[in-house]
Amino acid sequence: MSQEARSNLAQAEDYLRRFRSEPLLHWIDGQPAASTASETFENCSPIDGASLGWVSQGEADDISRAAAAAGLAFEAWRSTPGTERKRVLHRVADAITDRAQEIALCESLDTGQPIRFMSQAAIRGAANFRFFADQAPRVGDGLSLPATEHVNYSTRQPIGPVGVITPWNTPFMLSTWKIAPALAAGCTVVHKPAEWSPITAALLAEIASEAGLPDGVFNVVNGMGETAGKALTQHPAIKAIAFVGESSTGSAIQAQSAPTLKRLHFELGGKNPVLVFDDADLERALDAVVFMIYSLNGERCTSSSRVLIQESIRAEFEDRLAQRVLALKVGDPLDPETEVGPMIHPRHTAKVRSYRSVAATEGATVVCGTSVEEGPADNWVNPTLFTGATNGMRIAQEEIFGPVLTSVAFEDEADAVAKANDIAYGLAGYVWTADGGRAHRVARDLDVGMVWVNSQNVRHLPTPFGGMKASGIGRDGGDWSIDFYTETKNVAVSYGQHSIPRMGVDQR
Ligand code: NAD
Repeated sequence: MSQEARSNLAQAEDYLRRFRSEPLLHWIDGQPAASTASETFENCSPIDGASLGWVSQGEADDISRAAAAAGLAFEAWRSTPGTERKRVLHRVADAITDRAQEIALCESLDTGQPIRFMSQAAIRGAANFRFFADQAPRVGDGLSLPATEHVNYSTRQPIGPVGVITPWNTPFMLSTWKIAPALAAGCTVVHKPAEWSPITAALLAEIASEAGLPDGVFNVVNGMGETAGKALTQHPAIKAIAFVGESSTGSAIQAQSAPTLKRLHFELGGKNPVLVFDDADLERALDAVVFMIYSLNGERCTSSSRVLIQESIRAEFEDRLAQRVLALKVGDPLDPETEVGPMIHPRHTAKVRSYRSVAATEGATVVCGTSVEEGPADNWVNPTLFTGATNGMRIAQEEIFGPVLTSVAFEDEADAVAKANDIAYGLAGYVWTADGGRAHRVARDLDVGMVWVNSQNVRHLPTPFGGMKASGIGRDGGDWSIDFYTETKNVAVSYGQHSIPRMGVDQR
């Protein structure tokens, strides 16, 4: 272990010490709260399997307590002037920034995500809070739609207490992306973080409270998806669910929440194509392809996990890809040099590794990078490249969610688009070409929610983020987020002269 990794570990251990002496609790009505049933579960490090402490395991009762707190706090929070909500949310952003290093190190240790990427986790989380804080004063704004006989105007009002359910891949950044707009809109929130990465959700609750967010406005209940998560999606006081996770979980949530007719927003899985045409700037394309699949351990919804390469350049591009894969620095996530860290959990490691034999059985070529040589836990997956694949293979169709890239050849533009679209998912697509007309044609024809042309995924907060098909329902970002957390109301006021049909007048 390098000196820097050792010092990061010592500091992370320091931050986590308090979660070792007593369980990490829920956050309900402005304070830490144990589960009604006093159950806990163990949270283990992806690095060495060591215990990071015990976590309160929430059940339906705990969700009910949190939903009640969110319900009680709702009237006051929705009536708080938008300018004041803006001020409080900026204070939350300031407090996140003050504790950025703590958040980054805890996140890295809890998830196995390399610190070189997680060092931005808090900064991006704070940016999410600031962006949506600035929208708080105008969330009620609507349209004026005058008609001949009526003045019509629309307004928006917060939908009520909402549930936010998040996954483990980049939990802090991702949850702020959901929670900040809900709070800006005037909703109160119950957050159910992923059971494999609970730590930074607890930090956010504490930080927000210390920054002045009123009690009950933001609550956190830890626990399993099938119990705590399910109870949240079924609770009648919760008016909407913003969910990020697997497509199959999205289906389950849709069924669970049907009896209470909840509004749903889903950000689900992906198997995102990156199309590399033979006229592209291949060096930049190579950088982007490698970054978009092997950064964040490949545990990234928008990862470019399927590279479609024009046949005329396929062999050369795959060679260069393989060289990069073999040179990736795999190691301790707390080491700033590390590019690929361990998978989050042994169950996920087994799933990701299983695709190596799937690839071999399907007849693809398996190119593997180095494995980590030290570390007692066995959560490292050698960065992997599958070449010689066809689009119908499981390795080209299924979301693996690890540092694994599948390469498929295409002949021409039509073939590229057909292969890109021949899949259940539709989250993101990446296009590399020097031909401007082709860039626009392909962007138009891809069945995905987001296209990046000659670029890796660079997020711009005002733009819509989300997927088509099995990748999601709804969009985040800009006003799309605010729209999800608000109800639109139209008010029609007569000028006083329009005719009103008279009934019961001439019948006697
Ligand atoms: P997951 O669906 O297993 O779990 C996500 C969350 O849902 C967890 O908090 C879990 O406890 C909860 N959950 C599970 N079952 C539930 C149920 N029946 N009712 C309510 N809640 C339930 O996903 P994961 O394995 O944690 O995360 C990886 C997935 O997330 C990948 O598919 C990835 O593509 C997706 N993801 C999508 C985006 C996006 O923006 N589209 C972003 C990040 C991750």
